Amino acid sequence: MSETTTAQQTATLFIDGAWVPSQSGQTRLITCPADGSDVGRVSEAAEADTLAAIAAAKRAFESRVWADTSASDRGEFLSQVAAQLTARKAEFARAEALDTGKRLVEAEIDMDDIIACFQHFAKLADANPGRVVDAGDPRVRSEVVYEPVGVCGMITPWNFPLLQAAWKLAPALAAGNSLILKPAELTPHTAILIMDVFDSLGLPAGVANLVTGPGVSAGAPLSEHPDVDLISFTGGVVTGRKIAAAASTTVKKIALELGGKNPNVVFADADFDAAVDNALNAGFTDSGQVCSAGVRLIVEQRIKEKFVDELVRRAEHIRMGGPFDDHAETGPLISAEHREKVHAYVQQSIREGCTLRTGGHFGGPEHERGFFYAPTVLDGAARGMHAVTEESFGPVITVETFTTEQEAIETANDTIYGLAGAVWTSDAGTARRVSSRLRHGTIWINDYHPYLPQAEWGGFKQSGIGRELGHMGFEEYREAKHIYENTEPAVTGWFSMPEE
Ligand code: NAD
Repeated sequence: MSETTTAQQTATLFIDGAWVPSQSGQTRLITCPADGSDVGRVSEAAEADTLAAIAAAKRAFESRVWADTSASDRGEFLSQVAAQLTARKAEFARAEALDTGKRLVEAEIDMDDIIACFQHFAKLADANPGRVVDAGDPRVRSEVVYEPVGVCGMITPWNFPLLQAAWKLAPALAAGNSLILKPAELTPHTAILIMDVFDSLGLPAGVANLVTGPGVSAGAPLSEHPDVDLISFTGGVVTGRKIAAAASTTVKKIALELGGKNPNVVFADADFDAAVDNALNAGFTDSGQVCSAGVRLIVEQRIKEKFVDELVRRAEHIRMGGPFDDHAETGPLISAEHREKVHAYVQQSIREGCTLRTGGHFGGPEHERGFFYAPTVLDGAARGMHAVTEESFGPVITVETFTTEQEAIETANDTIYGLAGAVWTSDAGTARRVSSRLRHGTIWINDYHPYLPQAEWGGFKQSGIGRELGHMGFEEYREAKHIYENTEPAVTGWFSMPEE
């Protein structure tokens, strides 16, 4: 089939309530990272398409069609989205698994989290409409009301494609905004599906728009354009800095969820088996392609040898495989390019003095068709090394040690990032002291990875600006307005009256 014919049949941009192809006619073939199989062809948006989407979102916002829909009706809409996602869970999970290569069971868990996210923001939609403020003067009526920010641009990554989008879509719609979503170019299918859900539930045209395409051509216009009032971005810190710089020219509101180099601190008195098992979960779940992955193991010196021996023994038994391989415990990396980056990171870490205890290779012959990378443990890491300062975003755990609580805290905080971290100990005092001193947005005590939609998620330091989920994740999408009404207008007498 020629490219032109394919382009005519591919209309995956959702702009102003209609499915349209890209203006250039360009398309992109999506392939599954687990085996290179063809997943589907999508329209490849560029600047012209994003500009059309921004114009549609602006028209929709100015029409007030969604902003003036009652907050309880917007909440009801989100509940219906959650119900639709529940009904179509298998279809969505399959699409996510094929785009990312992750195991179907993980994609199904992601769907449960996505449904919970829509349910959470459905409840918040009309929970806090505003408040009356006591002006201390009976003639004055003063109130603070919350209004939608306006047109919101959303740019998301490929590791949890729909989950990261849901954290933005649900609060933005709950608050009455219009939006343009630009998902990662490698994983567009669930973004297409959710626009279909919005459309089928009668969301007015132009309120939610989708452009599938590369960051520089389809995404960057969102951070630069004066008609975009807010840009919410999840992705790498380098891209985040570019987006913040571009957004500053029009002083947009920005929300950034960036990377992490997350410490997993294990004290000698921790439950040994639970701590080893969770260290594997922390670093190797989703092949380490998790912004909050606990890839910096910081273990008390006196149990280090035993702990790392067991970690390596367990890591060597992790089975890699594709989405529908029932025996697989983890999947591939997203692309050949990303795998090269992870491998280069491991090679550089070895050159700077780390010891490769296991992994560091692409798997066996059965993995040749996918972008697999074996769970890897690098021993002998130390503060300041590239291995513990740079994110690999792959299944690579580095091992550092400590002898005192103070040293553990200083090591865990010695990073430009501050997204998440964990402390393992059986001593409640140690747990409280250490968790209160770790400068990271989420701290787990004797656990790793769970999060709750009711609780804020986000980073200290260069892991980001703002919070998603919780209450703050809703407030990001609202402007506070103070309305001060003088019910008895009078001459102030501040300036003298000129004589007649
Ligand atoms: P990335 O920064 O390369 O890309 C993310 C998105 O930004 C993609 O949609 C991409 O097309 C777009 N983009 C790229 N350049 C752009 C530009 N100049 N202007 C506008 N958009 C642009 O990140 P990635 O490789 O897709 O994802 C991995 C990164 O995301 C990791 O660093 C990870 O830690 C981070 N992440 C953070 C969280 C969190 O909650 N904090 C969650 C998931 C991923």
